[in-house]
Amino acid sequence: MKQRIFLSPPHMSGNEQTYINEAFETNWIAPLGPNVDAFEKEMCGVTGAGAALATSSGTAAIHLALKLLNIQQGDTVFCSSLTFIASANPVLYEKAEPVFIDSEPDSWNMSPLALQRAFQDAIRERKLPKAVIVVNLYGQSADYDPILEICSHYNVPVIEDAAESLGAHYKHKKSGTLGTFGIFSFNGNKIITSSGGGMLVSNDPERIERAKFLATQARDQAVHYEHSVLGFNYRLSNILAGVGRAQLELLSDRVNARRERFQCYYEALHRFDGIDFMPEADYGLHTRWLTTLTLNPDQTGVSSAEVISALANENIESRPVWKPLHLQPLFKRNKYYPHEEQVSVSDELFLNGLCLPSGSNLTLEQQEIILNTFSKLVKQPV
Ligand SMILES: *Cc1c(COP(=O)(O)O)cnc(C)c1O
Repeated sequence: MKQRIFLSPPHMSGNEQTYINEAFETNWIAPLGPNVDAFEKEMCGVTGAGAALATSSGTAAIHLALKLLNIQQGDTVFCSSLTFIASANPVLYEKAEPVFIDSEPDSWNMSPLALQRAFQDAIRERKLPKAVIVVNLYGQSADYDPILEICSHYNVPVIEDAAESLGAHYKHKKSGTLGTFGIFSFNGNKIITSSGGGMLVSNDPERIERAKFLATQARDQAVHYEHSVLGFNYRLSNILAGVGRAQLELLSDRVNARRERFQCYYEALHRFDGIDFMPEADYGLHTRWLTTLTLNPDQTGVSSAEVISALANENIESRPVWKPLHLQPLFKRNKYYPHEEQVSVSDELFLNGLCLPSGSNLTLEQQEIILNTFSKLVKQPV
């Protein structure tokens, strides 16, 4: 069997072991510890956020943000539809109701048009959402100027799900710092990984202090164990924070490497009729965490499902674009606002979209194998 080519595998820097060894030598295996504190500080340095809390996952960070915004049973929360399930699951943890918002075609991220219509209905129904979760997809920021204008008009806070966009920019601001809260993920497939973990950021240190309290079992000040509110066990271990620190040192290299992998695909494939890459909006920097494109089968003579299966035969992992959450059986009762009344952009992207192997450690030889397999399936440009 040929060596497997993964979609987005971990890429170690070599320095992880130094931080891990330090933790072992000082027996600071748990709980928390100096790597956790330093990782938080370094994330503030890299993103410009005012305060940060390292968490056991990105999902946990979203859950904490919802708790801090006092989301409760029966509340509604608006959320991007085209995303990984983790963006919306914490809304269900609190028995609140997600309402899904479509993408716009220019960035594949939240459509301000759909968001505006959702707010107009919410006003009519006299029930504004308690928060809006905006996702930055595949390494690219959403268009925050119009989104924040709408949300601040209705005085509703934004949670920025930047799990996929660490290292991206929006108009000279770092991705993850545009909302009331930002969250990152260091899951194994992200642009950098701590083998598992996340980060909650905010410009308000008091909110992060409160998040820290909730994330460590909400223990009140006392020598014994005293608890007056419900807490969680959501902190990151000192060992994993060490891995994250070493990875963070190389973030800009990783962004450049991902963008190079994208450029190589682009040069080989953009001339084919019916192949369109995810656009890079002119308002910022797209990290190209994953190289994604759509295929028009009428023009290319092949569907994205056929490409995925042909690549799988060569032991190459590729994936469809996220299945929008409004199409998930879990959310079949939830409301959805398409980009235009009769035009759902995310449905279209799911139907024809494709994510190609994009790891920063993907070799040129591997990329050639992928491109050879791919190009053979597609009708030549005329
Ligand atoms: C990965 C991801 C998350 C969740 O992160 P975990 O660390 O795996 O919990 C949330 N949102 C999006 C968009 C993601 O891609």
